[in-house]
Amino acid sequence: MEEPTEGASLVSGPDGKKRRVSYFYEPTIGDYYYGQGHPMKPHRIRMAHNLIVHYGLHRRMEVNRPFPAGPSDIRRFHTDEYVEFLASVSPESSGDPSFSRHLKRFNVGEDCPVFDGLFGFCQASAGGSIGAAVKLNRGDADIAVNWAGGLHHAKKSEASGFCYVNDIVLGILELLKVHRRVLYVDIDVHHGDGVEEAFYTTDRVMTVSFHKFGDFFPGTGHIRDVGAGQGKYYALNVPLNDGLDDESFRGLFRPIIQKVMEVYQPDAVVLQCGADSLSGDRLGCFNLSVKGHADCLHFLRSFNVPLMVLGGGGYTIRNVARCWCYETAVAVGVEPDNKLPYNEYYEYFGPDYTLHVEPCNMENLNAHKDMEKIRNTLLEQLSGLIHAPSVPFQTTPATTQVPEEPEEDMERRPKPRIWNGEDYESDHDEDDRPPHMTNFDDHMMRDGADDMDEEKSDGHPSPRH
Ligand SMILES: [Zn+2]
Repeated sequence: MEEPTEGASLVSGPDGKKRRVSYFYEPTIGDYYYGQGHPMKPHRIRMAHNLIVHYGLHRRMEVNRPFPAGPSDIRRFHTDEYVEFLASVSPESSGDPSFSRHLKRFNVGEDCPVFDGLFGFCQASAGGSIGAAVKLNRGDADIAVNWAGGLHHAKKSEASGFCYVNDIVLGILELLKVHRRVLYVDIDVHHGDGVEEAFYTTDRVMTVSFHKFGDFFPGTGHIRDVGAGQGKYYALNVPLNDGLDDESFRGLFRPIIQKVMEVYQPDAVVLQCGADSLSGDRLGCFNLSVKGHADCLHFLRSFNVPLMVLGGGGYTIRNVARCWCYETAVAVGVEPDNKLPYNEYYEYFGPDYTLHVEPCNMENLNAHKDMEKIRNTLLEQLSGLIHAPSVPFQTTPATTQVPEEPEEDMERRPKPRIWNGEDYESDHDEDDRPPHMTNFDDHMMRDGADDMDEEKSDGHPSPRH
């Protein structure tokens, strides 16, 4: 199969052209703490930011602190009751009998615990993605970045897979005020189910998710799930197997996205850069290098369409920081030195102290002929599309109405878990703060110590707020 040429631009400009990059970062984001042993660590966003600053990348972009999204902003997608619950629940109140019904109903507890400052975390994450959309809408930036966003599993009325508020859906709804068609691309190892579901019946948003499929959270994202009604054929799913390497991934990503850009001609693109598709992730099972992961951004950037870049999953946090730092460099158009600059979290990056990490020698279970079949199926699906559907400009699509299930059924239905609640590998210690770290932040040392002896303890972590 012929590979599309680099920088296949729809509009103009060579790939090397400078882009105006707007970057959203909430300085307190790293203080939020899901709890002892929980694999989701907002601290990784602070680590990425720290690398970004020490590489001097912040001088090449506009740095913004996001406005926290208000309840009414969040209600543009989520239900009133769910938002009210998120805004009022606390670790103290969650033990209250009046809350326990709600915890079940909104799927809060195991994968998605109630932690101190939960709503503030959701507001910062969503505020960054909405702010990024506003920048792109006004034409004030070509690329807008929010590493605290990308929480793709959250549903209209339910938390899922470590996600409570779907900042991506909120960001896309904001983009749709100005842009006719928005393309959403998801390279997290998990299916982008929350975003797909929200826009399943509209042609104003095309969703494309590349993910591990088969006995894996959340269980959705079959290749034959293509959208419904007006949205039929505007959802694309690329099911993949363990051990996906850079070459196989590129051989699917580039031709599929090339075709999507040709036939759909989006006015804006949102890329979810979940870093749990990297090699060696604590929950993931792919074998991508940082460069292989970042190639997606590199390729999408080359089309010169307003681009929102978001975070997502990522549980081997030293690699998440590496990846999102490198992708920030790709966004601003520089190639950073592989040798890491000294930074506050230097100890995490030993023994090599390099930006890039080599993939491992795990077997790639994605057979060449299967990949070819997937590629052909999806290219065929795309060929059947009407070119760039025109839409009544002023209408914002209604998000999918999922029929309400009776509450009893909701409670009996087993929820697939993204994480089995146990520690996976001996690796996990390295993900928490090393005990020998310089004592520049008392707060962090205390939580670091919490995490170091987290195993099999029933004790609650000391709250950070
Ligand atoms: Zn994920």
